[in-house]
Amino acid sequence: MSEPVIKLPKKKSTKDKVLGKMKEIRGKDARWQEGKTFSLVYYAGDEVLELLKDAYNMFFSENGLNPTAFPSLKRFETEVVSMTASLFHSDKEVVGSMTTGGTESLLMACKTARQRARDKYPEIKEPEMILPDSAHPGFMKACHYFDIKPVFIPLTEDSRANVEEYKKAFTKNTILAVGSAASYPHGVIDPIEEMAPYALERDVLFHVDSCIGGMMLPFAKKLGYPIPKFDFEVPGVTSISVDLHKYGYAAKGASVVLYKNKEIRKHQFFIFTDWVTGGIYGSPTMTGTRAGGSIAAAWAVMKYMGEEGYLEIVDRVMKTTKKLIDGINAMDGIHVISDPDMSLLAMASEELDIYAIGDEMAPHGWVLDRQHMPPSIHLTVSNGHTMPGVADKFLSDLEEAVKKAKKLSLNKVTTSLLLKGAKGAAKVLPENLMSKLTALGSSMTGIKGDALPKRSAAMYGMMGSLPNRGDVKDLVQDFMDQLYTVPEDAIDEDNLDS
Ligand SMILES: *Cc1c(COP(=O)(O)O)cnc(C)c1O
Repeated sequence: MSEPVIKLPKKKSTKDKVLGKMKEIRGKDARWQEGKTFSLVYYAGDEVLELLKDAYNMFFSENGLNPTAFPSLKRFETEVVSMTASLFHSDKEVVGSMTTGGTESLLMACKTARQRARDKYPEIKEPEMILPDSAHPGFMKACHYFDIKPVFIPLTEDSRANVEEYKKAFTKNTILAVGSAASYPHGVIDPIEEMAPYALERDVLFHVDSCIGGMMLPFAKKLGYPIPKFDFEVPGVTSISVDLHKYGYAAKGASVVLYKNKEIRKHQFFIFTDWVTGGIYGSPTMTGTRAGGSIAAAWAVMKYMGEEGYLEIVDRVMKTTKKLIDGINAMDGIHVISDPDMSLLAMASEELDIYAIGDEMAPHGWVLDRQHMPPSIHLTVSNGHTMPGVADKFLSDLEEAVKKAKKLSLNKVTTSLLLKGAKGAAKVLPENLMSKLTALGSSMTGIKGDALPKRSAAMYGMMGSLPNRGDVKDLVQDFMDQLYTVPEDAIDEDNLDS
């Protein structure tokens, strides 16, 4: 019987050795401190970072599972929910929960809708949820977990949900409809004002996914940006998700899901009163044990920033976004898709291979996310990118990358392959993992060695050209197996000395 490659060390080590090794291991991580990553890290400056760490550490050991043992956490959580609610035209009836992130907030909103339908409309056996094509995959995860049928509706030219199609999608099984404010892929707000009241007339819940937009849009509106109505002021909106660990600049593991009232939220809670030999158990969200640190840090950063602090950051971020959009649109060959309502944007090209442009940005340290249908590169502009020089450097590197992409012979082929119906798994495949995908792609396509494309642009093209979408899913499945398994060739550094 072969054993796991990495085993629990035989002997104890020292704090210095362990931390020293971890410092070494992180050497190849993305350099977010220089504003070179988009989306994964939100940085509001060193003072905020220190505050978050201190607050987190202060409540490092406490557990949000049982707020009666830790009244401090109960206070932080309820106040974080209330402060968040105060940004979205809430009345006092609005309630909510803190979750570990946007996905959990979406899961809870969907579970709540399903549970409400079970209680109120038991005749619905196959519940359906209406989703614009641009909705976050977290909703699909909810469908997958809670056995809800997703009903997708297409977008209009401007990347927003098509209201006509939306209205046609309702059936007697519809339990929930969704709009994004803003959508992650193109940064635009769905026409919530036209969508939510239609759901209300049918007693269908309506969730606004403001995971990414929630801590930007209310402030952008105050600053005078034209933000359409999207929150509880629109009749029919019954829940809103807001991530604090994105534009709230909180520590990771902090999001809020808000409900119009307790009557709706009660369907979210899980209560088990008959645990044989155990006690009475009540849990508001997905997780059992909850880190006190992320709850405390969220409270700390909101109290520290206040409206004034968020307005300052949002002002900088919106100005930087405009600079990037104008800069990109001024370049020959690439453009920004649609007209983003906030600080998210996608760059695309009609004639060049946009993924090749992304590849050319990598040597300069830029970590960029790929999107497909249509192929694009996504930027989440946040405070880190407002630091002096970052946007200018991005634009000059991009200009150079566009020039190089124009010279690449490969690009035409790749792009046409992609446009032929690519549904690549681009989002889950970061650049530095492409080599593994290459090996997998080799075994699946039969293409070997030098004939295999080396660049990620071509890899996405290859994935897109696989005729069977099931193959792509298998490819991603294998890839994820690899991603979450210790590699075969890993060395067991038992005593951390090597
Ligand atoms: C980030 C995001 C989510 C998911 O949030 P996580 O914190 O990554 O789980 C959901 N919806 C939108 C629009 C997002 O941008």
